[in-house]
Amino acid sequence: MFLKPDYNLKDIYEIDFEELKSKGIKALLFDLDSTIMKSKSAEYSAKTREWLSKIEREFVIAVISNNFSEEYIEKVRSISTFDVIGAARKPDPAILLEYLANARIKPSEAVMVGDRPLTDILAGKRAGCMTILVDSINAEHENLPTRFVRRLERLSIKK
Ligand SMILES: [Mg+2]
Repeated sequence: MFLKPDYNLKDIYEIDFEELKSKGIKALLFDLDSTIMKSKSAEYSAKTREWLSKIEREFVIAVISNNFSEEYIEKVRSISTFDVIGAARKPDPAILLEYLANARIKPSEAVMVGDRPLTDILAGKRAGCMTILVDSINAEHENLPTRFVRRLERLSIKK
């Protein structure tokens, strides 16, 4: 189905890097909120920080976020060792394509990782990237309407 990701995982730690490498993947583009950190926290957990520094040795990594707050994005940038781009307007793939072109990486050599089918996964697919959907980090703390919408989104990706 159109929104069906290539991989549907519990969290980022389940990503199989050897498999990605064997498929020619050179870059991982991550959504920010609820994918690699708790929403609006501007903070990596110790585990995530360690995990990111490990994969950074083997892949180009970047954050592509829809967050429009320049202050928030700047805060995340200050604690990151890779590019952090805000106001990305996913599911528009333009920013993903621009980033990859600048990095001289083909879309087919990149994977978009995110927690939202209608923004992250759709943007990745439109850009021609591989896609990985992960569960939202702090879903249990989200209010009911948000959880309801996410459940609907997830239903839409089932075959
Ligand atoms: Mg997100």
